[in-house]
Amino acid sequence: MSHSIYPWQESSWRQLQTLRQRMPHAILFHGAAGIGKADFIERFAQGLLCEAVLPDGHACGQCASCGWFSQQNHPDYRRVRPESMEDEPAAEGEEGDGEAKKAAKSKTPSKEIKIEQIRSLADFMNISTHRQGLRVVVLYPAEALNMPASNALLKTLEEPPPGTVFLVASNGLDRVLPTILSRCRKFAMLMPTHAEALAWLKEQGVPDADSWLREQGGAPLAAMAQAENGSREELETLLQLLAHPSVEGALKVADKLQKVPLAGPVSWLQRWLYDVFSYKLAGNIRYYPRYQKELAGLADKIHVSRLMAAIKGANERRATADHPLSPKLFLEDMLLEYANCCER
Ligand SMILES: [Zn+2]
Repeated sequence: MSHSIYPWQESSWRQLQTLRQRMPHAILFHGAAGIGKADFIERFAQGLLCEAVLPDGHACGQCASCGWFSQQNHPDYRRVRPESMEDEPAAEGEEGDGEAKKAAKSKTPSKEIKIEQIRSLADFMNISTHRQGLRVVVLYPAEALNMPASNALLKTLEEPPPGTVFLVASNGLDRVLPTILSRCRKFAMLMPTHAEALAWLKEQGVPDADSWLREQGGAPLAAMAQAENGSREELETLLQLLAHPSVEGALKVADKLQKVPLAGPVSWLQRWLYDVFSYKLAGNIRYYPRYQKELAGLADKIHVSRLMAAIKGANERRATADHPLSPKLFLEDMLLEYANCCER
């Protein structure tokens, strides 16, 4: 992990430093997914804990506190996120005993933040800090908190333990409990400009960076993740079908893509439909400009009410894509519906 923030976060960083004189108990960082909020708040957390913080608010990277932080075992720091975001759930040494680790290995890791994770913070907050400084909890994404966990967190935020700072990140304020929002100082994280994001992706050596960036709506980290997932070929397979829909093609593509995590194809279809819709209404294409001809043709052909029904259908599929009974049937159903929508 790099020790600096992303180039497009410089002004946010400076703005954030002004809060340090009167640190709020909880700050909620909000902005689009894939722009680096989590890395940003972890940097800020390290700066808060650092024993020789630099004048610009960055951690020194040299002190004992920074050492523990980089090892992920600072006694006054906790990071709370869904199990599915942990690379190696067993090696993190966060919450969970032997049993939990075994369970984590045998099941699909949870995408939720659970109440046990919030409860385990209680002990952490009840003892005095090890380094006589602040205690910092980083939590993201806030929308992953399930209801019991949200309520448990709310209780903590209502009676904030002294010397404790909560840094929470969210991809969408509308998906966070309003009572939690009201307890947090809100801090908006801006989307980088296209040029900034593109320059950064090129620096990281991401091939075909411009396409990936457009397809991820301008979010550089999301673009990099997609590029690294190597789903380019699958994406092209799907886009070819969406550009030239047919029943026969739908069945073939469903067969080809059944091993791909379904969230991918569903979100590609969602973006495609969004482009058709946006072209129809305003002549704009956001995600797939290289398919302009095909998108224009479809925008011309599909009635707006059918298009809206298709968008609604795709949004609903997104919710069930994590647990399909059969990936192949799921895809067939989705793609036949799309082919059907284009036919009439
Ligand atoms: Zn330090």
